[in-house]
Amino acid sequence: MRVVGPLSKGFGAEHPWAQVVVPFIVALALLFSAIVQCQQEVPVPSAAFHHVHLNVVDPDDSIRFYRRMFHNAKRVRFANLPAIQSGTVYLLFNRVTVRATPTLETSIWHFGWGSVSFETDRSKAILKGAEFVQQGATWGFLRAPDENLVEINDVVHRGGEVVLQNSTTFTHVHLFSEWPLCAAEWYQDVLGAARVLGRGERIPADCHVLSNVGVPGRLVTEPNATVRLVNGVDLIIYPKQDARALVSPTGHVIDHIAVSYPSVRAALARVNGMHVRVLDDVGKRERTGRDAAMIEGPDLIRIELIEQSATPAN
Ligand SMILES: [Zn+2]
Ligand SMILES: [Zn+2]
Repeated sequence: MRVVGPLSKGFGAEHPWAQVVVPFIVALALLFSAIVQCQQEVPVPSAAFHHVHLNVVDPDDSIRFYRRMFHNAKRVRFANLPAIQSGTVYLLFNRVTVRATPTLETSIWHFGWGSVSFETDRSKAILKGAEFVQQGATWGFLRAPDENLVEINDVVHRGGEVVLQNSTTFTHVHLFSEWPLCAAEWYQDVLGAARVLGRGERIPADCHVLSNVGVPGRLVTEPNATVRLVNGVDLIIYPKQDARALVSPTGHVIDHIAVSYPSVRAALARVNGMHVRVLDDVGKRERTGRDAAMIEGPDLIRIELIEQSATPAN
């Protein structure tokens, strides 16, 4: 027996009004969702890590140091400057007559190389005359010729998780920040970096999480965040270590960091309106024949943007 309910006489599919309006509404909804999807899918151009730019008194001495310590550090030239290349990353050496300050009052703390066995590499480095200024079981800080720190480690700590290092090339730059979690969001939004989370690690809704400033002389590690650039280089962001404000790295031993894009103009145009301070506008640089620009990031860090076609993984 067929039961005819009241709905079949109301706004059922056979109603002439519904035959026109329902498909129209469905079409509108599909169009709207396509627009939303389209907006969501506009990719943020991802930056690759390009170089750390250092002010050193004797570039040859610095190059000898990095080549002695790291088997994959090659002597090259970039932008007509003496340089070290490790994987896809460069250290560029700018010669200065007066030794620059290596103090840790800027947002750039140190950079580092990976190791598959810190203990083995530490022993080798000591035999080659290296000085470790600080070390643990899995990591150590080498003192470079201009007294900046260079880390070697075979594990990384991420959100309470310990992860084995699988690279022996340049792996990371360690940064200080007033608000590490907010800085991480900036690197995600502006540079297209990917957030790297430890197992079970969650991102709080408000990035303004106070640091655990406590015992003087003890490293303040929480909160911290890691973001990864497209060629596998990590920016690891720790809280600044005391109440003093961080200062600009300009003129320090580690002067600035640089990232690359296939088009610096397109990358800058995209962040226009995101309150990113442009310190040096985009233009072709004589020494490279490529477009470059300089922007200011969180905690007064200086980030050079440099044109380079797609960079393979480090
Ligand atoms: Zn540079
Ligand atoms: Zn580090």
